[in-house]
Amino acid sequence: MTVLVVGGAGYIGSHAARVLRRHGHEVIIYDNLSTGYKMLAEGFELIVADISDSASLTPVLRRVDAVMHFAAHAYVGESVTNPRKYFQNNVLGGLSLLHSVLDSSVRKFIFSSTCAVYGIPGKVPITEDMPRSPVNPYGITKLALEQALEAYDHAYGLRFVSFRYFNAAGADEDGGAGENHTPETHLIPSAFEAIRGDRAALEIYGDDYPTPDGTCVRDYIHVNDLAEAHVLGLEYLSGGSSAKLNLGTGRGHSVREIISTIEKVTGQTVPTRTAPRRQGDPAELVADPRRSETLLHWKATRSLKQIVATAWNWAQQHSASLKRT
Ligand code: UDP
Repeated sequence: MTVLVVGGAGYIGSHAARVLRRHGHEVIIYDNLSTGYKMLAEGFELIVADISDSASLTPVLRRVDAVMHFAAHAYVGESVTNPRKYFQNNVLGGLSLLHSVLDSSVRKFIFSSTCAVYGIPGKVPITEDMPRSPVNPYGITKLALEQALEAYDHAYGLRFVSFRYFNAAGADEDGGAGENHTPETHLIPSAFEAIRGDRAALEIYGDDYPTPDGTCVRDYIHVNDLAEAHVLGLEYLSGGSSAKLNLGTGRGHSVREIISTIEKVTGQTVPTRTAPRRQGDPAELVADPRRSETLLHWKATRSLKQIVATAWNWAQQHSASLKRT
């Protein structure tokens, strides 16, 4: 198939583009480069335009069989302080993209959703039929697109998979892509910054949670495991059904466990200091991935050590040299 990877110059989209190509699909990347990196789209056809720019989308949608949508703002904290930015891009921009797709003949759509749609879960592991009750604007914007997709599936036959990502981490094993956010807020690359001395210490956001060691537990999944699920999602869409699917490993790790794995893999000490809890952080988020495993014949196979090792390799080789143009 020919796939339009919207947001393909970003972290998860650039990995999906590579994995799609490895599976024999044609890829066109569409990205406004507001947070993506041209370098991550190198070797692919790249269209630099915004998701709300229907004049740019119309001609390229004639050339593709499916759309994957990764182009969204994704900082929970920023969504609380600047919700307008999130509703503007993630909802208005996302709907505009969906409407351009509806106006084309494309009827296969894969959406990057998030475990943030569940809010504070009543129990873990989280199954897909648990209530969606987001507790921050980021999760609300993702839920809005999920709901639009459900309505458009019913009314217009737009088949979709909404993938609810848990904590994407790690980097391509080939070293060609990895994570680089400005500013960096995610746990693993932030710990690397502390090792390198680019920040004084890694702040541990709360050590008084009701978890075994008091720090938050999350389900960290390798970005290429996520990317492979997208390839299988395309095949699933060819069967004519839509789905909402968790993408996680089903195993949780605490912040302290992540730090200790980083120290083992890198052989370096992570300077840390305990800080207050981050607003809106639930104690524990762990996926029940069985529905994805059953419907897609998929399983996350990469270990936490592989996540940290690939991320470290990428950070050592590339992150300092990445330029946005
Ligand atoms: N975290 C932390 N210090 C940091 C960044 C993150 O203690 O500098 C914790 C955070 O509270 C959460 C986990 O690490 O429990 C993962 O956070 P991250 O921002 O990587 O991903 P998110 O859960 O926001 O998607």
